[in-house]
Amino acid sequence: MSKPDIPKPKSPSELRLDLVSKDWVVIATGRAKKPETFKKEKREVMEEPKASCPFCHIDTQEKPTLIFFNGKRIKNSKTIPKDWTLIVVPNKYPAILPGESLRERAEGPYQIMDGIGFHEVVVTKDHVKDMSQFSPKEIKEVIDAYQERYLELMNEKFVNYISIFHNQGYEAGASITHPHSQIMAISVTDPDIQNSLISSRRYWDIHQKCIYCKMLKWDKEDGRRIVFENDEFIALCPFASRMAFTVRIYPKTHLSYFERTNEEQKLALSEVFQAVLLKLRKGLGNPAYNFFLRTSPCDGKDYSHFHWHFEILPRTSIQAGFEFGAGIEISTIEPEKAAEYLRTQ
Ligand SMILES: [Zn+2]
Ligand SMILES: [Zn+2]
Repeated sequence: MSKPDIPKPKSPSELRLDLVSKDWVVIATGRAKKPETFKKEKREVMEEPKASCPFCHIDTQEKPTLIFFNGKRIKNSKTIPKDWTLIVVPNKYPAILPGESLRERAEGPYQIMDGIGFHEVVVTKDHVKDMSQFSPKEIKEVIDAYQERYLELMNEKFVNYISIFHNQGYEAGASITHPHSQIMAISVTDPDIQNSLISSRRYWDIHQKCIYCKMLKWDKEDGRRIVFENDEFIALCPFASRMAFTVRIYPKTHLSYFERTNEEQKLALSEVFQAVLLKLRKGLGNPAYNFFLRTSPCDGKDYSHFHWHFEILPRTSIQAGFEFGAGIEISTIEPEKAAEYLRTQ
């Protein structure tokens, strides 16, 4: 299929609409930087000493909910075995806590609800080696842990939504430098995903089709925003990227629930995940990054219109006043150029 000719923009930027979230983003095409300029040769790495690292002294943490050794689950272990490779523990300083009842109350015009739920930390063994240096097999272990904990937590009382995210590096908001992900199982759905759920439902109701599948079909034929793909998964820089070098990883077939991912799909996902994180590491010079899972809530309702995915946000720039004030983000590189650069890494 021939690539569409994009008319040269008259202004130094383009406003692009995210079809699902309906957010406008500014792609600064005129003053756009070359992809190479995002690469930092020397990054300041703030590293906590191993001696005072809470995750290197995992026995000081709460009782683990899951232990892996080389991808295999260690069951019924009374003490923590020395040779664990991945461990999940309840957060020692949780933002939310398990509870027996969910109290709601009003204070004047305001609504208050108890912060009930589960807050866990997924810790990989090495103090320094982060996921961008993992093998596909090591990434698979992390994905397996996400899924196992998801399947357990979704059956807990008052859990309607499970958020899984990873902050790597100081600029990405990681307070502990030892690589770890977080799982929050909560009673309410975060507004960002709520928007995407409502919008993709509306599209499904009108067209009997998934809006994400429609975008993926276009992006696959167009090719310019693809970063990496295999038979099952595709990684691309979204048309309306909120930040420079944003990458999303989607299952190629229409899947609505992350927790139902099968073994073969998890292997394929790990391959794509590893390739993308390594490309970002090489291309941008070991950036701090966040990634998070976007999947259907687990409140028992039907979300078969939704298409789950991971979103990866490397931290190449600092958000400024305009982003916070206007709620419109400015990406200083075109997603097409970002993807082209990452493909060659
Ligand atoms: Zn450590
Ligand atoms: Zn779909």
